[in-house]
Amino acid sequence: MKSLAGRPVADAIYAELRREAAALSSPPSLVVLLIGEDPASQTYVASKEKRCAELGFRGKVERLPATVEADTVFRRISALNADRNVHGILVQLPLPPQLPREAILESIDPEKDVDGLHPVNAGRLVQGRPTLEPCTPAGVMEILKFYEIPVSGRRAVVVGRSDIVGKPMALLLLRADATVTVAHSKTPDLALVCREADILVAAAGRPKLIGSSYVKPGATVIDVGIHRTPDGLVGDVDAAAIASLAGALTPVPGGVGVMTIAMLMRNVFRAAKDVGH
Ligand code: NAP
Repeated sequence: MKSLAGRPVADAIYAELRREAAALSSPPSLVVLLIGEDPASQTYVASKEKRCAELGFRGKVERLPATVEADTVFRRISALNADRNVHGILVQLPLPPQLPREAILESIDPEKDVDGLHPVNAGRLVQGRPTLEPCTPAGVMEILKFYEIPVSGRRAVVVGRSDIVGKPMALLLLRADATVTVAHSKTPDLALVCREADILVAAAGRPKLIGSSYVKPGATVIDVGIHRTPDGLVGDVDAAAIASLAGALTPVPGGVGVMTIAMLMRNVFRAAKDVGH
């Protein structure tokens, strides 16, 4: 079984971004709004800031307290929308429970929505138009491209239908001419459905859900899940169980997770380029 490491794919994208960003009249800039003290979010935000610095982008984290009122958040986003020197705006999720997630994400200017979660960008994706794509599924497509895994005409099964991963993943595979099935928690006989896949994307958020009875011999398996367990990080795929069956598998860690920030940086670059530098 081939291991589809994310690092070489991400490194190739970073090299291209460094080259292309150098040709812009001013560096791409990202503002991340971090609301509250969630420890995992602090780590994610720090790595986004670090990656911006490494690429010569301007990256800034703005912190607001967990008790902040929605109006304050809307006012801040409105100011960032109007600021011509800010190309990308990202509101780090999850948000404290008192804040209206959908309304906050929708208040971001779609042209600066580098997470690709605004309904305007989701709509563009549905229609197959150019858009800022959600980072994790866009990263999966880059892995498939880098390792020259054919998608056109293949059967793809996506396990999970979230707005952040499952649905956009299915749309990107469809745009690449796969025949796509989306499975979820109400899908009967999930293993049978998954065994039809030439490309199986596991994004269910269930540790080691995908075992040997779910994989067609030779299939490419993409593991989007990340779970911290006493035995370390594991994915939605039971890697040991499918090792002798799958043709290729993304490792956890070091697979899809590596790609998510790379795709965020590409979106920041694209947002900067699109404002006409
Ligand atoms: P989510 O919002 O919880 O969605 C999970 C989806 O999986 C739902 O559509 C759910 O179905 C489905 N599902 C749950 N249990 C299932 C089961 N037993 N059988 C079939 N389908 C099942 O999760 P998410 O945000 O999409 O994330 C999915 C996973 O990816 C998580 O492990 C997350 O940590 C990981 N993730 C990784 C990255 C990365 O950078 N690598 C980025 C984002 C997310 P229903 O709709 O019917 O409830």
